[in-house]
Amino acid sequence: MNRQKNNEHRTLCARCGGQCCRTRPGIEAPERFLAQPDPAAALAALLIQNEWGLETHYGVPYTPGVTAPDPDRIIKYPRPLTIGEQDIENKDPSRSDDCIYLTPTGCSLTFEARPRMCRELVPDSCFECESPWGRREAALAWLPHQDLVLAASAALPPQEGGCP
Ligand code: SF4
Ligand code: SF4
Repeated sequence: MNRQKNNEHRTLCARCGGQCCRTRPGIEAPERFLAQPDPAAALAALLIQNEWGLETHYGVPYTPGVTAPDPDRIIKYPRPLTIGEQDIENKDPSRSDDCIYLTPTGCSLTFEARPRMCRELVPDSCFECESPWGRREAALAWLPHQDLVLAASAALPPQEGGCP
């Protein structure tokens, strides 16, 4: 995991109400898992707990001299689930898109435990918050580690009613 300076701004974020956490939870970088003895098992453990899931990114972002654009390729990367994803019988539709770690007083994870995209988001006093590590960077970071994602997925128990 990259060691990043804590850039939390709780006063500003309290005024905003956590809009970034109420749309789509931030994506984690591969480093958290690559630092573990068994990276696929570490990712599988989070997925099995039903707190994290895999999001699909469509297409490979073009990077001159590094990656060619490939609109047909699918890249999967992990992030915390939303309340609606975790609990399909969620009784409060107004909170369906909230990250499961969002509480009335902010994120319940320590700064270090948050996904990289959350840690890198820079709070802005005009609420035009931006992250230098967004979905494009996440897709490029996870592209060479899709075997890890596949191995973690393979370790999951079969879905009820799914194929054997
Ligand atoms: S980082 Fe920006 S969007 Fe997210 S809660 Fe803070 S002010 Fe709101
Ligand atoms: S992990 Fe925390 S900071 Fe990131 S989206 Fe969820 S509540 Fe927000």
